Amino acid sequence: NLSDKLDKAFHILKGHGKITEVNVADTLKEVRRALLDADVNFKIAKDFTTRVKEKAIGQDVLTTLQPGQLLVKLVKDELTELMGGDVAGINLSGTPSVILMSGLQGSGKTTFSGKLANYLLTKKNKKPLLVACDIYRPAAIQQLYVVGDSIGVEVYSEPENKNPVEIAQNAIKHAKANGFNVVIVDTAGRLAVDKEMMEEIARVHKAIQPQETLFVVDAMTGQDAVNTAKAFNDILNFDGVILTKLDGDTRGGAALSIKTVVNKPIKFVGTGEKMDAIDVFYPVRMAERILGMGDVVSLVERAQEQFDEEEARKIQKKIAKNEFGFDDFLSQIQQVKKMGNMKDLVGMIPGASKAMKDVEIEDDAFKHIEAIIHSMTPIERSKPAVIDVKRKARIAKGSGTKIEQVNQLMKQFEQMSKMMKMMQGPGGKNLMKMMGG
Ligand code: GDP
Ligand code: MG
Repeated sequence: NLSDKLDKAFHILKGHGKITEVNVADTLKEVRRALLDADVNFKIAKDFTTRVKEKAIGQDVLTTLQPGQLLVKLVKDELTELMGGDVAGINLSGTPSVILMSGLQGSGKTTFSGKLANYLLTKKNKKPLLVACDIYRPAAIQQLYVVGDSIGVEVYSEPENKNPVEIAQNAIKHAKANGFNVVIVDTAGRLAVDKEMMEEIARVHKAIQPQETLFVVDAMTGQDAVNTAKAFNDILNFDGVILTKLDGDTRGGAALSIKTVVNKPIKFVGTGEKMDAIDVFYPVRMAERILGMGDVVSLVERAQEQFDEEEARKIQKKIAKNEFGFDDFLSQIQQVKKMGNMKDLVGMIPGASKAMKDVEIEDDAFKHIEAIIHSMTPIERSKPAVIDVKRKARIAKGSGTKIEQVNQLMKQFEQMSKMMKMMQGPGGKNLMKMMGG
């Protein structure tokens, strides 16, 4: 799972007691991927990881915890917070309490109406009444009767009446007269958001003034769920969200996106077709579910994938024979660029992240270097020793850089060659791999 993989990545990457900016950035990239895999909207995932990063930087690692675990905890806490923190209850203060279901056709309104009635009956000692306000399909009324029968809850309907406002109002009267203390109003949905449906549910909503207006959404619809939620919330200003079809391995990212966009709590989840497949929504559990979903590949694994082993062997040979030149340097840079940005790379070199903490590294740090090397002749590239003052001036002019920059690169190149030679031993092997050499 995510926690294990992050710990592994951290174990390889670091040994210090603090989470540094670079390894947090690396790791959060994986977290972001996990979120995207779980269907969280891109911008939300990005903002989320940015916030976690801010919190994580500089935070001391408790001695009992692995840094990876600490970061996972930060991520989990933030996710939990984002999904509402605490469990949101349902308002049952009315006499009777009126609960209105809204949502698209097929989202699971009728099924959830039954589940909620069953839950209130068996767990909360309530006497619920189910109301059939889906006037468009006779089968819809029939469906609610089947549901009601299966749980022993009465269903109110007026098959001849085509006015859902009247039906709902009459149902509430019926409830008052017959000792029902909860009225659950099941409504008609359409396959997509349309004006007529919105106007109808708005009329019902206004007429019956429910204690709870619930928006029911199919968790499997992913990003679409967010747009639908927004449309319904704009009209109804609903009180809570019901996430259905969260059974099996359905990804739950939509939950996070919906909560973020409409800022309403998720109250229940549906986890199956049966009447007892209803769960109170626990933000913590959902956070765990989302994090567990994405396959988080550790940075180290990624690095190994992207570095060409063959290339690495060739370069190693060249270094051994003192033939490492600027062309090789250039291909190293290209390898590094494939990896991602410079900060990431530095973070992967043990110890370097600490040393480079205050150094501002730009993503296009290689731009000048590449320009300079491109201005060199083949001889200059393979035998850097021939580059004298005159050649340096020409290279600087050709690459649009200053002679100091050329000097600096020459010096860096020398140091790097030296370092690479030193790292030929077994101890330097991993670092060599990291650097593509
Ligand atoms: P409505 O059109 O909004 O009233 O949706 P329904 O309640 O008729 O549900 C549409 C379909 O989704 C039905 O086949 C239900 O059995 C199914 N369904 C509803 N909730 C769940 C759930 O939580 N899990 C699963 N697997 N299926 C569900
Ligand atoms: Mg229905």
